[in-house]
Amino acid sequence: METYKSLLPVDKDGYYGRFGGAYIPEILHKNVENLLAAFHRYVDDPEFNAEFELLLRDYVGRPSPLYRASRMSRMYGTNIYLKREDLNHTGAHKINNAIGSALLAKRMGKKRIIAETGAGQHGVATATVCALLGLECVVYMGATDVARQQPNVERMKMLGARVEPVRSGNMTLKDATNEAIRDWCCNPDSFYIIGSTVGPHPYPEMVAHFQSVISREIKEQLRSQIGRENPDYVVACVGGGSNAAGAFYHFINSQSVRLIAAEAAGKGVDSGETAATMHAGSEGIIHGARTMVMQTPDGQIIEPYSISAGLDYPGIGPLHAYLATSGRAKVMAITDTEALDAALRLTRTEGIIPALESAHALAVLDKMKFANDDVVVINVSGRGDKDMHTYLANIPLNND
Ligand SMILES: *Cc1c(COP(=O)(O)O)cnc(C)c1O
Repeated sequence: METYKSLLPVDKDGYYGRFGGAYIPEILHKNVENLLAAFHRYVDDPEFNAEFELLLRDYVGRPSPLYRASRMSRMYGTNIYLKREDLNHTGAHKINNAIGSALLAKRMGKKRIIAETGAGQHGVATATVCALLGLECVVYMGATDVARQQPNVERMKMLGARVEPVRSGNMTLKDATNEAIRDWCCNPDSFYIIGSTVGPHPYPEMVAHFQSVISREIKEQLRSQIGRENPDYVVACVGGGSNAAGAFYHFINSQSVRLIAAEAAGKGVDSGETAATMHAGSEGIIHGARTMVMQTPDGQIIEPYSISAGLDYPGIGPLHAYLATSGRAKVMAITDTEALDAALRLTRTEGIIPALESAHALAVLDKMKFANDDVVVINVSGRGDKDMHTYLANIPLNND
């Protein structure tokens, strides 16, 4: 049996440098302890891993392709490879973690699953896995998001989940997360599946582990396609940080691989309408972890803004706060306009409509100069079907 050792720069208490930990009310201590014990019990378990791998292959459709984007490579004078998480079942990387977490919930004997969702992608992934495994599913979603993400709300309902609209704050992801945590406090027999590398330890480490299949595949695919397993750059968008954590995971300790995270600048980092936490935030505590947070001097959370619902979050996972402040990763702030331009460019050069979140990672190509022989891997975290309404409202298509 292989023994589990996280490749992340994390200690046994869940700290990444000074970020992370578990800042939770007393009533949740037992839940979090049980979760940590179960994660350590099953993370190396051959039967657990065989079931996880089988579902990743035959249900999600993994490995997702690593596609050399030839026209785009020529356009930017470098070698661009796209990791196609957009081709996964349910349309994004979120399903990887939803399956791993739900399998763990089953092993723990849980019958009721709680989740939060912003754009609805994590809610759909969780509702999907609950249908697959016969688990009850309750999804908290800000009322603002319920209204602007109707197709995903309908999908969750068809899958049998109960969608609970949340009416506090500005009724988006942060408020839905508060409500999911509250539910967990009242219902300790339920299992809370968090959709990103956020929350108290062990969530960031656990979610990164379930997403690490992304970089494991990238290494194998690069080795077989170009004979070397390390690229020069890995680029991913960051909301809470789960797709970036998965894409970076197996490269974090290879210093020659440069890690680039794209966060959502919204209308600009200094505009007051932004979700660029590393640029506009300061150290604080949000949803059970010490990390970078957008907050007023007296610690009130500042409402975030991004055109992309999946990046519209006032925090960032502790792993990414650490990678950024230690200089291991570079964080670039991408505006709404830059993301929209990048989405149209990918669509017209490669015939791939990316999720608005992923478009933030693609926009890095316009802001950095890569060498002719560089190998640049960009994680396309999801597909753009859910964003067609926003694209059509914001991009002049000139072809009527
Ligand atoms: C949810 C989502 C994100 C943002 O979440 P991370 O945890 O930062 O990955 C990015 N892309 C897509 C397609 C998403 O659905």
